[in-house]
Amino acid sequence: MKPTAATVVIIGAGLSGLYAARLLHAAGIGVQILEARDRVGGRILSVDEEGRPSEDGFDLGASWIWPRMQPAIGALVDELGLSGFTQFSEGDVVFERFSREGPLRHAGPRQDPQSIRLVGGMSAIVRALMASLPEDCIQCEAHVTRIALAEDGVRLTISLPGGGEEETHASQVITAVPPRLLEATVQFTPALEPSTTDRWRSTPTWMAPHAKFFALYDRPFWREAGLSGTAQSVVGPLMEIHDATTSSGKPGLFGFLGMGPDQRSAIGEAVVTQACIEQLARIFGPQALQPRATLYKDWSKDPLTATSADRGFGGHPSAEGSAWVTGAWQRRLALAGSETSATEPGFLAGALEAARCAVTDTLQRIGSSN
Ligand SMILES: Cc1cc2nc3c(=O)[nH]c(=O)nc-3n(C[C@H](O)[C@H](O)[C@H](O)COP(=O)(O)OP(=O)(O)OC[C@H]3O[C@@H](n4cnc5c(N)ncnc54)[C@H](O)[C@@H]3O)c2cc1C
Repeated sequence: MKPTAATVVIIGAGLSGLYAARLLHAAGIGVQILEARDRVGGRILSVDEEGRPSEDGFDLGASWIWPRMQPAIGALVDELGLSGFTQFSEGDVVFERFSREGPLRHAGPRQDPQSIRLVGGMSAIVRALMASLPEDCIQCEAHVTRIALAEDGVRLTISLPGGGEEETHASQVITAVPPRLLEATVQFTPALEPSTTDRWRSTPTWMAPHAKFFALYDRPFWREAGLSGTAQSVVGPLMEIHDATTSSGKPGLFGFLGMGPDQRSAIGEAVVTQACIEQLARIFGPQALQPRATLYKDWSKDPLTATSADRGFGGHPSAEGSAWVTGAWQRRLALAGSETSATEPGFLAGALEAARCAVTDTLQRIGSSN
């Protein structure tokens, strides 16, 4: 589909881009979202046991919100008519401290604040946001490669899947792409000021170096043995494990890999998978050796999330720092995206807060140019 000239073009259809579009649409502004992937959601991805996007899925990306500490995301979940459920944590937890010592079982502490998952998977929020937008406002497989300031706005060059290019125009642009990825993959004319380039490049993309592993089972046998599914390990390969059973009752366990991107690449997915299954069996018993399916998502290998700079564990993005946009670009560009949030950088809640700020700035500019 060829994009229509919209007042505001948003680059990226993750949570932040979609929420920015919702706010602009509600304010009566024409909006077009350009998304490089063939799907929306970005770092939100809920899949079935074969890894296909699903409405009753396992969360390969973000899985939890904490509405008590993050009221804005709790309010949006309510507004969209979605339901949450508490991360399962009833029962004992297990610690693996040394490889020479067996796993240690302890009474599980009460979780506070409680981590909340969404019924259907975190993608439920993405689907609900899409449903609230005009049908033709999202263009997938539209990878923005260049943006240039023009007399009357901004020209954007889009690279298409078949190899061709397309141009579109907007009066204002909101990027909802992690700043480090934006700096590495999109060319700006005129060039960004060096302080802006530095800020974007040095902002780690939250969770980009990480990988998640899931083992799916016919029965939640760990629950039957009084275990919550929560475990922590310095032995690995998984460092933190949780129950991943869906709200509809499909049993599973998931964990975050403790080894870095380079080590994971060197070992390969098949060896990582086997080592994860063996660890689950050490911790939860021999039934863990027979998963009905496994899922693995290494975000460091995803070129629409991570850059080569994300191969080290870079820490949390910081809310402190100079302005995200400087110089001539200030008239036409605002940054959304979770990493740019002043209050919750890196988190889903931050994606909303950053979108709200970018939309406020953009509406002010549109208002003052009329
Ligand atoms: C494994 C993992 C676990 C996480 N767990 C949690 C959690 O439990 N709770 C929590 O609060 N947060 C969690 N997070 C973080 C959370 O996922 C992010 O904060 C949030 O999804 C970011 O949304 P976003 O819209 O800012 O960016 P993204 O979701 O990264 O969206 C950016 C979008 O831009 C697109 N894009 C990139 N470049 C271009 C381009 N040139 N042209 C067009 N489109 C482009 C991408 O394809 C993507 O769709 C987790 C993240 C990961 C990876």
